[in-house]
Amino acid sequence: MIVKPRSRFIKIKCQDCGNEQIVFNKPATTVRCLICGKTLIETRGGLGKINGKILEELE
Ligand SMILES: [Zn+2]
Repeated sequence: MIVKPRSRFIKIKCQDCGNEQIVFNKPATTVRCLICGKTLIETRGGLGKINGKILEELE
């Protein structure tokens, strides 16, 4: 079974400061933590590269 990556919002926990932030998993620009400025997700032309802990995937 092949799982297709879908566009969706995910809740990420910043590993540096513990801030929880909702981000789009195919971001147009790099998304940074609102608290400490750490990069949470980088653009990769499709699915972003996630640099935090995924807590939840939102529909
Ligand atoms: Zn942070």
